[in-house]
Amino acid sequence: MKKYDVVVIGAGPGGMTAALYAARANLSVAMVDRGVYGGQMNNTAEVENYPGFPSIMGPELGENMYQGAIKQGVEFVYGDVQGIKVDGSKRIVQMDNEDNNLEAKAVIIGTGSDNRKLGVPGEKEYSGRGVSYCAVCDGAFFKDEDVAVVGGGDSAVSEGLYLANVTDNVNVIHRRDQLRAEKVLQDRAFKNPKMDFTWDSTVTEIVGDENKVTGLKVHNKKTGEDKIVDAAGVFIYVGNIPNSQPFQDLDITDEQGWIITDDQMATSIPGIYAIGDVRQKKLRQIITAVNDGGVAGQNAYEYIESLV
Ligand code: NAP
Repeated sequence: MKKYDVVVIGAGPGGMTAALYAARANLSVAMVDRGVYGGQMNNTAEVENYPGFPSIMGPELGENMYQGAIKQGVEFVYGDVQGIKVDGSKRIVQMDNEDNNLEAKAVIIGTGSDNRKLGVPGEKEYSGRGVSYCAVCDGAFFKDEDVAVVGGGDSAVSEGLYLANVTDNVNVIHRRDQLRAEKVLQDRAFKNPKMDFTWDSTVTEIVGDENKVTGLKVHNKKTGEDKIVDAAGVFIYVGNIPNSQPFQDLDITDEQGWIITDDQMATSIPGIYAIGDVRQKKLRQIITAVNDGGVAGQNAYEYIESLV
């Protein structure tokens, strides 16, 4: 079994920062991810609230963070983590293939969260054929067409603004009469002539022909009216669910699955830390994930020193 001082699970902004900090403390570090490094930054168009970069595309920021970590000696390991086994002072990171399990003194969990699904008829059926969770990836398929965005948070509004640049019209369908998104995004969206809003409305079905989406059935909760909103693409941004399933048996999550830590990113198990969006916390941003990663990387170093 390969041995490291620290194994970081997840290569989003939190994980890449934790790995960077631990490596700079002269620890051997593996950073595991089941996909491409970058995490949700890969699905984010423009980032304007990461200090030092007045405006940068999400994937570019991810690439920069990755290069920074690798330069410090971090080893990237591709694999799907199934769990962590505690064996005395050893922490065994269990992979999908047991032969690839990794041994560590400290583990930092930065597995983030996944898109919450709407759970309505048509969503699964038309996924990839008009239903998308990533404007940056799929927006260009709808050049000169009308699209809908579902949700009212920062993601729905910022990605809606991105879509307004590449499509003909964006209809934001929100279940209340007020957006949750930050004020600056709201102001921009309300001023954008290519953005419309359908308030107080829930999506009951995504409809289409044999091959692709043609629209959504929406129900207005206030008037009781049902109608079809025409759209060639439906972009769903209704929040996130934590990627903490592999760690359920460690008993470190709350009832919704978010991992509970103290302000030093320590879970209730010594040598196991959690960072970024998978943590129970209020503000989930790139900058807060990066903060968590720095704190956890340094604390993992101090914990390992204390073992000697
Ligand atoms: P979010 O803040 O949880 O917002 C989810 C939105 O979806 C809410 O408007 C919610 O409505 C709606 N919603 C939830 N379940 C629904 C359902 N079943 N049907 C219809 N609508 C539903 O999620 P997010 O926008 O993805 O953001 C996640 C985190 O990332 C947040 O902390 C956010 O601040 C952060 N983020 C920040 C930026 C930025 O700083 N620019 C960009 C993206 C994300 P209600 O409002 O009625 O609850």
